[in-house]
Amino acid sequence: MQAWRQATLPACPLCLPGTCRLEPLAPYLRKVPAVAFVARFYCRAQHTTISLLPDFYASRVPGLLDDIEHAAEVAEAGGGTEHTAETLRPADASDAITLGAAVAWVRRRVAWVREVLAIVGSLFPDLFAGVARSVGAFRAHLETSSVLVALRGICERHLHVLPRPLGLNPRTPVARPRRRAPRQSMGPDPPAEAG
Ligand SMILES: [Zn+2]
Repeated sequence: MQAWRQATLPACPLCLPGTCRLEPLAPYLRKVPAVAFVARFYCRAQHTTISLLPDFYASRVPGLLDDIEHAAEVAEAGGGTEHTAETLRPADASDAITLGAAVAWVRRRVAWVREVLAIVGSLFPDLFAGVARSVGAFRAHLETSSVLVALRGICERHLHVLPRPLGLNPRTPVARPRRRAPRQSMGPDPPAEAG
């Protein structure tokens, strides 16, 4: 299926309606975790490329939101960061990676998830009142095993101010509402950061 061929943006997520014109760009090839084309647009006013990212993709880092969540989940289970790195390393990294690199890989993911849960908790104080800022607590509260994917829907109007891997992290955060783009999330191009 070549969904990217039909992908359009109803409105620029960064600008007030009618104040800029989005130009379609050639789709880019996203290689991790699976090869896929991602539709892109360019906002002249913000000098920013905006991508239509399927909801399960992490933003600005390679891979899936579920995989990042899994790393944080394993870390929460205890045993220490080194143990978590040893547990996760075979599934995600090449044989050549060092334990030190794997530990850093785990720490980045734990920090991203922690930051996202803290921000989401403060964006929706009533919804997450009394919920611990952990993957386990959010899973129980939202009754899902894909907390980050669920939060991307819940936080849709805030994605442009949220950090990676959930949010879209534009260079100039602006707190403006935007229209809904069903089943896809918009984000600037993914990054050079190696997973
Ligand atoms: Zn714009």
